[in-house]
Amino acid sequence: MAGLFAANILADHCEQVVVLERDKGWEPGAASAGIPHSTDCLPQAEGRPGVPQSRHVHVLLLRGVQVLRTRFPGLEEELLSLGATRLNWLKDTAALAGGGWLPRIDLNLPGFSVSRTLLEGSVRARLRDRGNIRFRPGHRVVGLRADRGAGESDASDIRVTGAVCAVGDETVGLDADLVVDTSGRSSRLPRWLKELGYAAPRESTVNADVGYATRWYRIPEDWQADWKMALLATRYPDIRGGAVVQPVEGRRWVVTLVGYAGDHPPTDEAGFEAYARRLIGPQVWEAMRAAEPLTGIGGFRRTENHWRHYEQLKRWPRGLVALGDSVCAFNPVYAQGMTVSALSAELLDEFLKGRRKKEGQKDGQLMPSGLVFQRKLAKMLQTPWQLATSDDFRWAGREAGDANLTDRFMHRYVDHVLDRIHRPEVCLAFFSVAHLISPPVALFRPRIALPILWAMAKARF
Ligand SMILES: Cc1cc2nc3c(=O)[nH]c(=O)nc-3n(C[C@H](O)[C@H](O)[C@H](O)COP(=O)(O)OP(=O)(O)OC[C@H]3O[C@@H](n4cnc5c(N)ncnc54)[C@H](O)[C@@H]3O)c2cc1C
Repeated sequence: MAGLFAANILADHCEQVVVLERDKGWEPGAASAGIPHSTDCLPQAEGRPGVPQSRHVHVLLLRGVQVLRTRFPGLEEELLSLGATRLNWLKDTAALAGGGWLPRIDLNLPGFSVSRTLLEGSVRARLRDRGNIRFRPGHRVVGLRADRGAGESDASDIRVTGAVCAVGDETVGLDADLVVDTSGRSSRLPRWLKELGYAAPRESTVNADVGYATRWYRIPEDWQADWKMALLATRYPDIRGGAVVQPVEGRRWVVTLVGYAGDHPPTDEAGFEAYARRLIGPQVWEAMRAAEPLTGIGGFRRTENHWRHYEQLKRWPRGLVALGDSVCAFNPVYAQGMTVSALSAELLDEFLKGRRKKEGQKDGQLMPSGLVFQRKLAKMLQTPWQLATSDDFRWAGREAGDANLTDRFMHRYVDHVLDRIHRPEVCLAFFSVAHLISPPVALFRPRIALPILWAMAKARF
């Protein structure tokens, strides 16, 4: 998704954009498709091998929906016509957060729910229509091409000039003025930078040891409930198990069970069902019991928050940027990855526009200093990182290090927010922050903060 969002932006700034992808099989005409335009080719639950996460629940936060509406006008309506579910957040969702149910109020917060595979396929189809974006499936990037400039040993003078790809048994070199790494969590960029003589970035990890297990179901014809999506969140330290029932196209549910701190949901049928039965809310098990399973049960364990701090490097080659999970991947429970990728691409747009204004675009000078971009990106990543790691820090225990005074204050403060989640003004503020619409400071509006600070003072924090 980060690569697609970036390609869409780059197509406004460059003559030609080439999207390199190691997977094959989703290109036009391929049977496994995942490419919409016809309900006959609704995506399979499995997705494609390069994104094994796509079989699991993928929720697009409202901030992501807003970006999608601006950048891909009409796409939301197209997805709805293909069977995506219209979701009025809060009103249509049975959501348990911090042990309390969010009020089912109508705040007119419309989003939609769709599988990751259909969303990705639809965005890709839009890009294909743009004319100056080409897709090269079956191209596995194995290194960077670089021009070392005058001084062989001076890494600051290096310009990335393209990528080296493995295509079947062959190795192919491709030239580019700008290379954007969006190869996800397993990105080899640190290694490629090292090969060019650069230092490795510092890496931050906060691992709450979260495990996912997912199965897809057919929604029963006669299904009736007062919710369209059910979300049962965990709460430190007692509620380790959570779940999501996500409606997706083709009248299907994606049911994902989530377990914190090693309490992972099993992937055998009996264990999976037993885990669902002991969740704190009944919705998930009730839905599963009524529905026909369509797939086996798949697990996922690589969920740690992980940030490669490229922004702290002193030197960085020209003609290169990185964004998406390749830079910063979040615990997926917070559903931030696709939205943050979309916001990162927005930042790239701003940055490229700014550079043009300042310098005028000279040939081969599209991105004189990618490091400036990485620093701007790091600033933007602060908020989602803070949101994802604040609670995870507690779950991670001593491995994540000692909590400082600010951390401890925030943990207690958010506990109090969750205790008041049933109150509309608290719920709306919490929801807007979690959906990346408002900054975290929204949780400190006087109406919310004063009673909490008073309660904290009485309890001596
Ligand atoms: C279990 C799980 C659930 C998630 N749920 C949500 C959710 O609810 N909401 C949300 O917003 N986000 C969610 N995410 C995160 C989301 O999937 C990613 O953050 C988002 O897709 C952006 O990632 P990306 O595009 O950077 O990387 P990816 O989506 O991982 O894509 C990387 C791409 O690069 C390709 N690639 C990799 N290496 C190479 C190479 N060497 N050469 C060529 N191609 C290569 C891969 O095949 C793939 O297509 C979830 C993640 C996981 C693991």
